[in-house]
Amino acid sequence: MTTSLRIPRGLWKDLEDTVIQQDRQFLSEVARSLGLPVNEVLRRCLGTGVVQPVPVLWTSGSEQACPAWVQQGALWRPCPRLRLSETLPCHVHERGHLVLATDPLIRDLPTWVAVRWGGDLYWVDPADPTSLALREDGTEAEIRMRRIRDRDDRAIWVITR
Ligand SMILES: [Zn+2]
Repeated sequence: MTTSLRIPRGLWKDLEDTVIQQDRQFLSEVARSLGLPVNEVLRRCLGTGVVQPVPVLWTSGSEQACPAWVQQGALWRPCPRLRLSETLPCHVHERGHLVLATDPLIRDLPTWVAVRWGGDLYWVDPADPTSLALREDGTEAEIRMRRIRDRDDRAIWVITR
């Protein structure tokens, strides 16, 4: 289970300012120890003084999963990578368009169920036993599966071709 906490805006700004301030101190020390002009190094590394937001890598919470959804074959699934930070997706989805769980495209998708058969995982549309099952990589398998009840009234999946 994961817990999300919203950081108050003022606190976030303080944190950002602190990080930028520490960047400046670090760069100043490096410039001094190398005998370089401090102001020139700061200008080149930090820009013209306009405060830029800094992506923050959190030591805790960084294990949260990327919120993007990815398409593989005919399947859409949550991105398996980790977030770069609390407020950023993974390194792949940091740039470009994100498809999120709240996107109508994803919200309107039917939910298929995972069925293990013969050591392999298949995705099956529980509402349509006539549709072909999908392999784990999203490609069509040449089998169909339907859910039935056995003698003891347990739900089991059977293969139909
Ligand atoms: Zn991602």
